[in-house]
Amino acid sequence: MGSVAQIYNFSAGPAVLPAAVVRQVQSELVSYKNSGMSIMEISHRSSLYTEMEAEAERNLRELMRIPDEYDILFLQGGGTLQFTMAPLNFAQKTKQIGFIDSGHWAQRAIEEARLVPGVKAKVVASAKTTNYTSLPKDPVLQKTYDYIHLTLNNTIEGTMYRTLPDLKNQVVVGDMSSNIMAQRYNVKDFDLIYAGAQKNIGPAGLTVVIVKHSLLHTTPELPSMLSYAKQAAKHSALNTPPVFAIYVASLVFKWLLQQGGVDEMQKRNEKKAQLLYDYLDSSSLFSAPVKKAARSTTNVPFVTGNAELDQRFVVAAQENGLVNLKGHRLVGGMRASLYNAMPLEGVQKLVEFMESFEQNIGGNK
Ligand SMILES: *Cc1c(COP(=O)(O)O)cnc(C)c1O
Repeated sequence: MGSVAQIYNFSAGPAVLPAAVVRQVQSELVSYKNSGMSIMEISHRSSLYTEMEAEAERNLRELMRIPDEYDILFLQGGGTLQFTMAPLNFAQKTKQIGFIDSGHWAQRAIEEARLVPGVKAKVVASAKTTNYTSLPKDPVLQKTYDYIHLTLNNTIEGTMYRTLPDLKNQVVVGDMSSNIMAQRYNVKDFDLIYAGAQKNIGPAGLTVVIVKHSLLHTTPELPSMLSYAKQAAKHSALNTPPVFAIYVASLVFKWLLQQGGVDEMQKRNEKKAQLLYDYLDSSSLFSAPVKKAARSTTNVPFVTGNAELDQRFVVAAQENGLVNLKGHRLVGGMRASLYNAMPLEGVQKLVEFMESFEQNIGGNK
């Protein structure tokens, strides 16, 4: 086998996985645990599966310090299906949900909630006036909502909550799709947490859901696949679970524990992000639009201010092994995603390349 040229993948998702995990998948793909079958071929009722799944849950519980009063679910449908499942299950009493409008994914959650019959989605705070380059001001909550929806990291705009806004004892639903286990949050501050796996956990096709057990008793009769209570009762195996995706996630969880866990990841992510932001703030070609206090450690948007130059940069970076730096189509420019599996060397290489690009351009913004 020839060696593969080193590339650094800055994609926002599906995103880079730890190289050691990909190699382990390769090495045990043909015969999982000497079963003579690949993980993709084993039964989800076999002990090979149930042991793997139980270990994945245990490790995730340890990594995020998830108390016993929370259930862990491994579902499908991505973060987007949670935009529907959360209101179906938990918008029951007042049928009103308070949304913190921190950017595109919060807005998608609002749109989907409004498609659920009878549900009213109210924006209780918004960062629209700063064009989402900062986080919304803390909401003034005068009444009780069935829950408040919060997006912890705004993948497209590049803003992130370091501490939570004051939500006055309301039920809190947190979308952690793009910084789960990249940043330490206190699980007890939430009643429901969810994350599509393909950004910071594993392959697409798996959604991790963490839900307070006591809330499940209040859920209405729903189609089984859409009911947290029924999914929890069947231990996420109400139907055939995404076995391969859960398996890769289980390897990522083990890798994270070996690396020192979430606190160590947060430290590394701060260091990686700081390196890039420091350069962006000192550059006379590139700049970061997000206000300092709100800057994400996992998704870093940046621009030259000239769309044609942005395009040239993305192509030149690609030719140098720095791939998937094109910004989201909604905001343009560039975006570097620095998830847990992105090594510091990747960010060092990126900054070196940006410096040489800037020199060649002559530093004219
Ligand atoms: C990517 C993303 C989503 C959508 O995830 P899918 O798994 O593609 O449905 C939702 N919320 C946030 C914050 C995201 O980054």
